[in-house]
Amino acid sequence: MQTNFKKNQLENPEINTSEKILRKCVHCGMCNATCPTFQILGDELSGPRGRIYLIKDMLENNKPANAKITKHIDQCLSCYACITTCPAGVDYLHLIDHGRNHVERTYKRPIFQRLLRNILAIVLPSPALFKLIAVVTNIFRPLMFLAPSNIKNMVKFMPKEFPKSKLPYNPVFKPKSKVVSKVALLTGCVQKVISPEINDSSINILTRHGIEVHILKDIKCCGSLTHHMGKEASAHKLIEFNIKKWHDLYEKENLDAILVNTSGCGTTLKDYGFIFRNHPDPKFRKKAKMISKLTKDITEYLDESIKLDFIESSKKKTYRIAYHSACSMQHGQKVHEQPVKLLNKTGNHIYEIPDGHICCGSAGTYNLMQPEIAGELLKRKVNNIQKINPDFVATGNVGCIKQISMGTKIPILHTIELLDWYTGGKKPDSIKS
Ligand code: SF4
Ligand code: SF4
Repeated sequence: MQTNFKKNQLENPEINTSEKILRKCVHCGMCNATCPTFQILGDELSGPRGRIYLIKDMLENNKPANAKITKHIDQCLSCYACITTCPAGVDYLHLIDHGRNHVERTYKRPIFQRLLRNILAIVLPSPALFKLIAVVTNIFRPLMFLAPSNIKNMVKFMPKEFPKSKLPYNPVFKPKSKVVSKVALLTGCVQKVISPEINDSSINILTRHGIEVHILKDIKCCGSLTHHMGKEASAHKLIEFNIKKWHDLYEKENLDAILVNTSGCGTTLKDYGFIFRNHPDPKFRKKAKMISKLTKDITEYLDESIKLDFIESSKKKTYRIAYHSACSMQHGQKVHEQPVKLLNKTGNHIYEIPDGHICCGSAGTYNLMQPEIAGELLKRKVNNIQKINPDFVATGNVGCIKQISMGTKIPILHTIELLDWYTGGKKPDSIKS
């Protein structure tokens, strides 16, 4: 794509990067074919090619965003299916990030929207605050019929129960056997409030295979939620803090990896090096790169670095398991084969969901902010899952678990719960028979 940035514009490193991305696009429109919002809305500006043009126009002409542009940028799920499809290798991920930052800097949203976004940006990254709001919501739940529709939608996603972790808090979980490696585990923000069993299973399977697990208590939100809202300053504050903490731990313990069991967060951690590519301190740039390099999805690490001891599956019932590949995992991190390979080793029948490259509508805060599109995507996802008739669904992202469970009674589990069970851990509570 031809671009017409002026020389002084290209001196801005952010513009410079985006210009290089834009020049790669050959306008072929192949990305539209796999874009969920283009499929649903059928409008050029609701697909990746249209959004690329909108961002180019804003950046090139130094134009502030307006309500129309903001709508089309906001409708993007950041699912990155377009990146997987693009034959020219257009780095849409970093272009849309720049577009979102530009919108946030130059457009004043209507007050209610601003308020909602600010509340989400404060509440979701804080487990304690999220839990408090959920408790208060439960008290007022009977009165929710009086609330506006977008609040009602948000309340739908608030947990009614708060399951407890079966493991005591421990900064270091040591294996009973010889230590073969040491890792840090990111335990997530909302995840540890609504599904502590995911972290329990992660710790159990890792320690059972000789891996020492470090959990930094004061680690903050990975920054993903605010980063994808274009709230650059608050995201960077969280990320900088985490980079310093993890890097200190890496140096002290000689960590083999930082493991993530929430794939949305994993995609952001793997991007820390890029996010801070222009940081004035070269030492910090190096640290950010190192954290990205160390980051692995837990299934990626188990597949590549550990030989799991699967127990005899013939003793158990054989299940039909549908694998839902979270977008952040398959498109964001290009981790797809590894969890499928590991699940196949459990001896069950593993099925990939038809149109599995299409998002379920979860996408961070997307199902809260764009309920209509998210609801349509959920309907399509559940229809496709039902075609397989599975006993349950496995996936690697708590957001997808929550979203899909809103549309079906089929149990949804985290992949690591199954792998833990089939390597000697306890049977997940959600599997009844
Ligand atoms: S597929 Fe790639 S090159 Fe083609 S329009 Fe989309 S982003 Fe541009
Ligand atoms: S990230 Fe997803 S929703 Fe956004 S343009 Fe690409 S395919 Fe479409």
